Amino acid sequence: MTKVGAAIRGFLNPYVPEEIRDEFLLLSAGQLQEQSKLLFLAFLLTTPCAALAAAPDASLWVRFVVPAAMALFCLAGYLNLRRDLRLTVSPRRARAFLRQATVSSSLIATMCSAWCVYSWLGAPPDERIYYPMIIALGAFSTAYCVASARLGAILNLVINLVPMAALLFTSGQRMDLAVGVSLLVAALFQLHMIHKQQTNVIRLLSLQRQSRNLAITDPLTGLLNRRALLDTATELGAQGPIRLLLIDIDHFKAINDAHGHDQGDEVLREVATRLAIKADLLGSVARIGGEEFAIIGMAQDLPEALALVLLHDLRTAAMPHAAQVTISIGLADGPVADEPAWRELYRRADRALYEAKQTGRNRAVSFANLAEAPDDKVAAA
Ligand code: GH3
Ligand code: MG
Ligand code: MG
Repeated sequence: MTKVGAAIRGFLNPYVPEEIRDEFLLLSAGQLQEQSKLLFLAFLLTTPCAALAAAPDASLWVRFVVPAAMALFCLAGYLNLRRDLRLTVSPRRARAFLRQATVSSSLIATMCSAWCVYSWLGAPPDERIYYPMIIALGAFSTAYCVASARLGAILNLVINLVPMAALLFTSGQRMDLAVGVSLLVAALFQLHMIHKQQTNVIRLLSLQRQSRNLAITDPLTGLLNRRALLDTATELGAQGPIRLLLIDIDHFKAINDAHGHDQGDEVLREVATRLAIKADLLGSVARIGGEEFAIIGMAQDLPEALALVLLHDLRTAAMPHAAQVTISIGLADGPVADEPAWRELYRRADRALYEAKQTGRNRAVSFANLAEAPDDKVAAA
């Protein structure tokens, strides 16, 4: 019983991992907008059939008013969905849209279901069987279209098919019973397929996210890699001047030589962790090569004094190989409007780092304080 309960809960509210929740929402809303547009159009085209299919002695309401109301509703829905609703950029809008779609598709389902039940009750016995057919076609195509708004799909099938199945079960006709059972089985089957399809989409989005994370992560330290650093630089560069700190461990080769490569890896991890802790919230930290790291952030958010904090922190830290580690840092600031600008900023930070190495290591040098700086400012302008 609890297994059935868990399965129903899982069906009504499928688990979507936190990291892809917004993406899943945006995808669902975008898909729903596209499909609902076609659905409204299809309903609009079939509303004249409702006038044709109404029982001969049906009232004006059933014959014309309900189909006309449906047609207007579908036309308004279609025109609304043709606009750019910006659903694929705002999770808040996407969620609201999924809710609206659930409500409006349920409203249409209620109109259709009431129309079919009323028509069945008034139709000659040999014509009744057309109404389950009409409602089933509408219900299954609607549920398929609104599958991304899962509650909407469930409500559609229930509102459309349950009253009709009840009529079929209670009519006393052998064939009606068979049709009623088939309708319900087909509805359950469709719900199952909707569930499967969405589970697959969630799995694919998760895999896509994982491979995207792998593509931008350094496997040894878990920091960003060189490629991600460039992406971050151009993203931040669009907002204003940025600051780059290039950090290189001093005499790292000697650590490898004396303690082995594995121990060297441990040292790299420890340095990475320490840099990440100190630079957290100020900027993004990357490992860009063997024993080279970078920190990047908006110039106003990433203080130059951070370099001194890092020098002190690493110099005094307990390291896996039980010896001291020092680092050298090169700093540079500048606008990064495009990739060439980024390369120039990188060159400057690298030049400052070289200076730090040349003047004794275990220190930070800012490119702005180098003799080369004034000329380069002109060149960069
Ligand atoms: P400097 O102070 O001038 O920077 O000297 P250094 O020894 O730190 O620099 P050098 O470029 O001579 O040596 C870097 C060493 O880093 C050489 C290489 O074997 C080692 N290395 C590069 N990648 C890795 C890695 O992933 N793991 C380990 N353990 N060592 C690495
Ligand atoms: Mg190096
Ligand atoms: Mg080094």
